[in-house]
Formats: sequence, C-alpha cells, structure tokens
Amino acid sequence: MSTYKGHCHCGNVEWSAKLEKDQQGHILCHCDTCKYLSGSTSTLNQIIPKSALSITKGESGLSKYTYYGESGKPVYCYFCPTCTSHVYHHQTVMGDDTIILRTGLLDEGINGTLKPAAEIFGKARLDWEKEVAQTFETLPPS
Ligand SMILES: [Zn+2]
Ligand SMILES: [Zn+2]
Repeated sequence: MSTYKGHCHCGNVEWSAKLEKDQQGHILCHCDTCKYLSGSTSTLNQIIPKSALSITKGESGLSKYTYYGESGKPVYCYFCPTCTSHVYHHQTVMGDDTIILRTGLLDEGINGTLKPAAEIFGKARLDWEKEVAQTFETLPPS
C-alpha cells in the first residue's frame, strides 16, 4: 500500500489516497458520460474505499454534480468549483463506502508513473484510440 497525493488545477483542493498494490494503475473509462464530464476520450479512475481518500484541503468547498446512472441510482461527482477538476465520484449503486477516484489527477497520474491497468466501456472507445490495457466491452464480470 502506498500513499498518493493530488490537487486540483487551481490548488484550492488537495487530497491524498492510499492505494493497495492492485489499485496502483488507471482504469480507463470510455463511456459517453466520462467523455462529457472530462471533455476528453476517457477518464482515469480507480475504485477505492471511501476511507482511503483524505481531502486535506478545501473539502467543504467542493461542489457536487448529480446524475443518474443506468441503474437509476444517483452518481455524485465532487469537483472544485473554481477550476472544475473532478476529485472523485460516488456511484451510490456501489454502496456508501466505495468511491471512484480520478487517478489521473494524482501526482503520479500527471507525471505518468501510474500506468493503465484496464479499460472499461470499450464499446464506446473512439475508433482512432489504441488499446492500452485489457479491455471490457462494458464492466468486467463480477
Ligand atoms: Zn481547483
Ligand atoms: Zn465512464
């Protein structure tokens, strides 16, 4: 287990996350929601226990955007209201203790130390994007 630090673009929000060995990589999500929210081709994520994330600066100032996932259950997206960096998402269908961390914003995500571990919603991957890790059409079988 290692501790990783991250911050939003403007620096108003800072956090640290404890990642187990098997969490030390990015899960690329190619779903259309991720394209809209990031303005990019995919997002970089890891599923972690809520207790593994500590917002060390600016937590009370985080804004929340809510949308409803395919399950019909709400997904809460926590982001910096000043610069709009998304820190983490809470898909309530996964329970109260599980969150989705945006690993691309960790220092090791920015500098490239963390590598792709898997790709999900591969069916929505743009056809000019190369495969960089094991790809699942939607979600891995549970
Ligand atoms: Zn910010
Ligand atoms: Zn997605």
